[in-house]
Formats: sequence, C-alpha cells, structure tokens
Amino acid sequence: MIVAANWKMNPSFDTAGRLATVLDACSFNPVRRILFIPHPYLMPISERLGQSEIQLGGQDCHQDAAGAHTGDVSAAMLRDCGASIVLLGHSERRANHGEASSLIAAKARQAVAHGLDVLICLGETLGERHAGQAEQVVIDQLRMSVPDDMPQDKLMIAYEPVWAIGTGKVASLDDIAAMHDTITSELPKSQVGAAAARTPVLYGGSVNAENAAAIFALGNVHGGLVGGASLDAEAFGSICDSARAQMSKS
Ligand code: PEP
Repeated sequence: MIVAANWKMNPSFDTAGRLATVLDACSFNPVRRILFIPHPYLMPISERLGQSEIQLGGQDCHQDAAGAHTGDVSAAMLRDCGASIVLLGHSERRANHGEASSLIAAKARQAVAHGLDVLICLGETLGERHAGQAEQVVIDQLRMSVPDDMPQDKLMIAYEPVWAIGTGKVASLDDIAAMHDTITSELPKSQVGAAAARTPVLYGGSVNAENAAAIFALGNVHGGLVGGASLDAEAFGSICDSARAQMSKS
C-alpha cells in the first residue's frame, strides 16, 4: 500500500515543514508514504526529514536533461534536491499546461534516466465518462504516457477521474474497481513486461479519512493519491492508518 500526498502549490513553507515533521513522527509501517511537494521546498524538507522513511517527490520535470528552459526543472535537479520520485501527467498539468501523453512519456524517460521513480496519472473528464468513453480515454493515456522501455520497478500509476479531483465527488467503488482492472490488464500491452501485474495502481480523487478504508479494501487498489486531505496531518494520518489496516488484513 502506498499513500501519496500531492500538496500542489498550496502550503506555506512553515506549514509544509510542520506537516512533514508531524507525518514523520507517526509510524505507519509498512505503508509507503510519498510527499509530492512544491519544488522550492524539496531541499530544506529533505534536510529536515534526514533519514526518514518518507519519500519526497517533485510535481513535474522537464523532458530534456538540461538547456534553455526558463522556469523549468530537470529530473537531475529534483534528484539532487532530495526527490526520489516524480509525479507526471497530473490532470492539472494535462489541462492547464497542454501536456500530451507523448510529452509525459518523454518526461518519464528522462526521470528514469536520472534515477527517479515515476507516478503517472490517468483519468477521464466528466464529459468523456458521460459519453461512454472513460475506459478508452484511460487506455489511450496509459499506452501513450508509459514509455515502451519503462522498467516495471520504477513505475506507479494513479487513476484519477478528473471530475473527482478537488470536488468532494468520489467515483463509485464499482467504477474504481472496473477501471483498475482495465489498467492492470492493459499494463502488459504498454510493454512494461510480464511483471506488470506488480505495478501499483493508486486511486485519486477526493480521498479522505472517511472514504479511504472502503476504497483501499478493493482488491486492485494499491493505495491513494491524496490532494486536499493531505494538507491536514490528522486526515492524512488517518488515511495512512486505513492503508495499514488493509495491509494487516491481506
Ligand atoms: C489530486 O490532486 O491528485 C487529488 C486527488 O486531489 P483531491 O484529493 O483534493 O481530490
């Protein structure tokens, strides 16, 4: 089970430091915890956490190793500042920055080349779901966003229906289970190899302390990507506890 926080462009530096310290003080073993934090905070929070089991991640990286890309951040820079993973293809980047799946694949290649793990987000809009296209949209995103030569042990996927992000609306348990089955069965076709069954597939979209246990109890959900609730240490701790409880049952 993996519980990942996406802080986006939200917490102040003080709040971020306090959140990281509180989360580090709780023992959630064996739940793998990841914080995707604003890039300027990576180095100081990495120093603050020291040898913590919490993994730090960047929220994006550039597809090139280096160059004239004002305002962008390279995979090597993330790694040098304490990140071991990067979040790619979040729907806010796909929508607000026009990122296509082919670009996300190029970023993933660059991240892996610099020793980072990669969490790639997939998800349909409400219009696509209403038009009966949700499954095909997610399959297409998966096939085009995951590089052909992606090492299986570097990859994680998050299924995040766009209409469920930050809205308080959660996909039904049946819909989550069905989409996770689809993603898992499509992973080998995206050429990540026979070990694809072991690629973790997280759910994201208004996960909170109240709904996490039911979502994590679905057999094919391997954790959550959490936005809003990750800014509240108590709520995020409770979500990690649900993940831990689920692990002790299975
Ligand atoms: C997200 O931003 O990835 C997310 C899932 O946000 P929220 O939990 O707030 O819906």
